[in-house]
Amino acid sequence: MKHARSLLLKDQRPLSRKATAMRYSALSLLWNGLRGNRDWRPAWRQPQPKPHYDVIIVGGGGHGLAAAYYLAKEFGIANVAVLEKSYIGSGNVGRNTTIIRSNYLLPGNNPFYELSMKLWEGLERDFNFNAMISQRGVLNLYHSDAQRDAYMRRGNAMRLHGVDAELLDRDDVRRMVPFLDFDNARFPIKGGLLQRRGGTVRHDAVAWGYARGADRHGVDIIQGCEVTGIRRENGRVAGVETSRGFIGCGKLALAAAGNSSEVARMADLKLPLESHVLQAFVSEGLKPFIDGVVTFGAGHFYVSQSDKGGLVFGGDIDGYNSYAQRGNLATVEHVAEAGKAMIPALSRVRVLRAWGGIMDMSMDGSPIIDRTPIDNLYLNAGWCYGGFKATPASGFCFAHLLARGVPHETAAAFRLDRFRRGHLIDEKGQGAQPNLH
Ligand SMILES: Cc1cc2nc3c(=O)[nH]c(=O)nc-3n(C[C@H](O)[C@H](O)[C@H](O)COP(=O)(O)OP(=O)(O)OC[C@H]3O[C@@H](n4cnc5c(N)ncnc54)[C@H](O)[C@@H]3O)c2cc1C
Repeated sequence: MKHARSLLLKDQRPLSRKATAMRYSALSLLWNGLRGNRDWRPAWRQPQPKPHYDVIIVGGGGHGLAAAYYLAKEFGIANVAVLEKSYIGSGNVGRNTTIIRSNYLLPGNNPFYELSMKLWEGLERDFNFNAMISQRGVLNLYHSDAQRDAYMRRGNAMRLHGVDAELLDRDDVRRMVPFLDFDNARFPIKGGLLQRRGGTVRHDAVAWGYARGADRHGVDIIQGCEVTGIRRENGRVAGVETSRGFIGCGKLALAAAGNSSEVARMADLKLPLESHVLQAFVSEGLKPFIDGVVTFGAGHFYVSQSDKGGLVFGGDIDGYNSYAQRGNLATVEHVAEAGKAMIPALSRVRVLRAWGGIMDMSMDGSPIIDRTPIDNLYLNAGWCYGGFKATPASGFCFAHLLARGVPHETAAAFRLDRFRRGHLIDEKGQGAQPNLH
């Protein structure tokens, strides 16, 4: 795989409908600014559901919207609806800590996440939307010789797959982020693994950009439309019952993230997933002092600084099953402790906001993009707390599967039956424990 761009061009088909929305450019900004910004049109339509679509995608998060976009743009299937029970971006795509990276170890994961990184690198130009993609670097700290060896192995695997990786020693890290507690008695910082092409992306802009792009290609994005049942006839999905009535479809694609198990249950499917809460936090605005993303694996803490100056950080999942999009104070304390262990000065920073999202935790920490035992029912799930970075590749590979009926080569390992076959992609080697992925 050289360039994601050429991969896409290989799959290009003529578009079935003409693009409708206005193109954003410096000229259009200037023109609209001079006219008092009165003439901007909504970025996507608010269509009524049609009685039938070729493909219905359940879930207007990043993955569902990206799949719709690539289905229409790259595979010429535009008679598509994305059904979202709330508003688009209300789920995890608008709740995450915005980190993107492709620093994976295992062959089942690495080419897929690198495809995603390459798609991120061309995404704003591709869907004509500013998603504030910032390749500011992701640094994973190590604290022991054993951890350094593990990171060296990971870095070597990345480089063998053509992914950038640099192993830093303690002095290199000190030059980059001098305010860390290098001599912490329990977790002294000995160095780090750096991926310079990793970074952050404005998460809700990803949902908006894909929504606008999909809409331009004729996809109907239907918000406030909850799927409440899956109607089957002769062993196939005939359509979905929704809060806005029955809608028929040729193929049904589930991309409901933390609610995947609940939606699949409507078709009598039991998924190897657990739903857990993960929280995120934003501090008051501070002067710039963290250039990139820094992760402290030993204490489970990761932090970056937004362009507005707020620290954006998070830690571990709450550790119990839940569908509530809010977390528990014990985890807030744990995240604060880990943060202060890494950067003692954090004890003087005020937290402004915290929120939670529902993770669809798979039992090996890796996702599922696959057909299901029901002929025309497809599944995209199991992203745990790493699915944001995967959004472009997940959308593209899901669209590939829906259009061609076979997995994309980079997603070939993400099969639903791997748990039954014992072919796990156990990225962290921790087995079937969602709190250890
Ligand atoms: C706090 C937090 C921090 C995270 N940090 C990172 C990070 O830094 N980097 C990273 O890579 N990943 C991160 N993640 C994980 C990442 O956000 C998710 O894996 C990813 O966003 C999931 O895919 P999605 O965007 O499609 O999900 P969602 O945005 O949750 O989309 C699913 C949609 O399905 C809709 N839906 C559910 N049921 C139905 C129904 N019955 N009918 C219609 N619609 C339905 C939901 O309303 C939702 O909008 C984080 C997650 C959280 C919560």
